[in-house]
Amino acid sequence: MKISTFSKFFAFLLLFSQIALGKIVTTGSLSDIEKLLDDADEQSLVIFDCDDVLIRQTDATCSPEGWAVLSGYLSAVSKKSPELGQKLTRTIWETAPQTLVDSDMPRLVAKLQKRGIKVMVLTKMANKPLDGTTSADLRVDELFRFGFDFSKMWTNLRPKFFGLDWKSPYYKSGIVFSGAGGKGDALKSFLKYAKLKPSKIFFIDDKVENLKSVEHAFAKDRVRMTCIKYTASKKLSRKFEFSNVRLQIQLHLLNEEGKWYSDEEVERRAAEKLKEGKC
Ligand SMILES: [Mg+2]
Repeated sequence: MKISTFSKFFAFLLLFSQIALGKIVTTGSLSDIEKLLDDADEQSLVIFDCDDVLIRQTDATCSPEGWAVLSGYLSAVSKKSPELGQKLTRTIWETAPQTLVDSDMPRLVAKLQKRGIKVMVLTKMANKPLDGTTSADLRVDELFRFGFDFSKMWTNLRPKFFGLDWKSPYYKSGIVFSGAGGKGDALKSFLKYAKLKPSKIFFIDDKVENLKSVEHAFAKDRVRMTCIKYTASKKLSRKFEFSNVRLQIQLHLLNEEGKWYSDEEVERRAAEKLKEGKC
């Protein structure tokens, strides 16, 4: 017990020494992040990335390897029929299984909001029209389903594109959608729009390039930056390895039935058919 307390103390000391040296802090522990956020106040801004920080898709098809194949398929469909491409994308988005990276994260976000601290999301995705809705609205809805309401501290801010077209960064309901440009520039546009000059920024993301993009954008500003690389999602193994055969079955069922079957459902159906001697 004493050794455990001792090692926890040194692990935390290491985190603070990384901050003191201006380094990106790496941790897979939400309690480490919570301790670092004890230093936030009402002049601070706390920013969370979305995918693999707040929520995570659990199908192997949605892993980077699977997504490369799936997105290629969807863009080929979209070239032939943009309407069908949007419809299929929306169905996958709304029905592919997802989970919280840490079940305690909604409590932490709500606690920060209760302390009067501005909390927001900075996601790499772009806002696009999607089968009668928008990708931004789907993102707002999915976070809401998981118990997050990032609009709370930003009630006076209306949705806005920070450019001339749909490719430009966009803001809605406490979420900034950076699109293909860097997260740093999108955040700067948002702060200008919100007329906000935080004294401290805490940014939690699973990708170093995003953390560096924000760090770089604010290098000349008088703001104390704490960049945290959150690695918890790496410990969450997916139940199945990616399989192109399974993906082809999922795409066939998606086209036939207009429904996304999860990896688990496809495996179960395949096992049942094997049992029945049908394949
Ligand atoms: Mg991410």
